[in-house]
Amino acid sequence: MKPSKMIRALALTALLHCTLPIWAVQEPAWTAPFPPYRIAGNLYYVGSADLASYLIATPKGLILIDSNLASSPPLIRKSVETLGFRFSDIKILLISHAHVDHCAGSAEIIRETGAKYEVMKGDVSVVESGGKSDFAYGAEKDMQFVPAHVDRVLHDGDTVQLGGTVLTAHLTAGHTRGTTTWTMDETEGGRLLHVVIVGSPNVNPGYKLVSNTVYPKIAADYEHQFEVLRALPCDIFLGAHGSYFDMTEKYARWKAGDKNAFIDPAGYKAYVADREQAFETELQRQRTARH
Ligand SMILES: [Zn+2]
Repeated sequence: MKPSKMIRALALTALLHCTLPIWAVQEPAWTAPFPPYRIAGNLYYVGSADLASYLIATPKGLILIDSNLASSPPLIRKSVETLGFRFSDIKILLISHAHVDHCAGSAEIIRETGAKYEVMKGDVSVVESGGKSDFAYGAEKDMQFVPAHVDRVLHDGDTVQLGGTVLTAHLTAGHTRGTTTWTMDETEGGRLLHVVIVGSPNVNPGYKLVSNTVYPKIAADYEHQFEVLRALPCDIFLGAHGSYFDMTEKYARWKAGDKNAFIDPAGYKAYVADREQAFETELQRQRTARH
């Protein structure tokens, strides 16, 4: 395999697993601009081709989920403005999890908007230390970012409310200690739709699931995460990366006129089952390797 092809293959693997962000920086497919669009109700996509970012527009201001890489805020801003909203109206900033490809832009967005940063307890020290307290990547410079102060510490089941919209934070830890899956209800065409934005169920290469002295209950946290994800009612399936829910393919259908393109309860179930199987396989592999 030619070196360039090799990098591409590695990057593709990385893309599927949300792994080392150095590849994210090198992989244009992650950061290429993508047209912003309305998913349902007051929920919009304002991310790049793979790094998802979600905007929720309420009469009392905007909520943004995921600030992505340090280089992402100008792109997110452009998407928000293209949709006709004011970037400065972002009142609350949330994240899927405290990895550099989802939260490195936070300090910049907070500086520009004055948004309140609300983060799940397990990820608070990571975002406030700029990644240095991450259980897996703390010592890796490429995984670090500008620290940002957290205004509100979230706990499992907490809600974030603004202008009549209610988002619920589900602790789905493992990938990070505070990985958060966000849910909300939208009404579209008179129909109530349950929205699930998956934080990340992926086991990154190098993650120690067995005898992890830094994060002893990592495997139990993943198991709990899959219990939670299996139980969530889901009509609209979304996630921290577009690749989780085949965004490019669904967007093409949406653009061609299929306004139900993002309604995919079966796809959600299949994705969760697939990721749970991948976790179990890796857990067994590591358990066997110990003997
Ligand atoms: Zn991640």
